[in-house]
Amino acid sequence: MPACLFCQIVNGQTSGRIVYEDDSVVGFEDIRPKAPIHLLLVPRKHIPTLLDLEPGDEMVIGHIFLLSARLARERGLMESGYRVVVNCGPGAGQSVYHIHFHLLGGRRIV
Ligand code: 5GP
Ligand code: ZN
Repeated sequence: MPACLFCQIVNGQTSGRIVYEDDSVVGFEDIRPKAPIHLLLVPRKHIPTLLDLEPGDEMVIGHIFLLSARLARERGLMESGYRVVVNCGPGAGQSVYHIHFHLLGGRRIV
């Protein structure tokens, strides 16, 4: 079993409230939501941080942004707005070292 928590969720080895999956990306609910809607979108590929992105990763990263718009629209966030955040490194608050895009919405995000 991989040591990485999000690899375990992606591989179905740990339960996660999955809301979306395809060949390259999995989306699931954050266990400690900081907003009424708080999803985590992760590539299936284990990439520790933004600094570890390599040529060839452009497709999956772009795909995640398009997907975040789709999931936001489905949740009615077009008017209220939403935020997509990636933390990189401990100084920015990254706590899980498998790159993940937070999708936050459903309250005023300041
Ligand atoms: P970071 O601080 O690395 O940017 O974000 C990590 C996020 O992962 C946090 O918002 C945290 O609540 C979430 N998280 C940590 N452990 C788990 C878990 O086991 N399951 C889920 N669904 N989310 C987790
Ligand atoms: Zn991983």
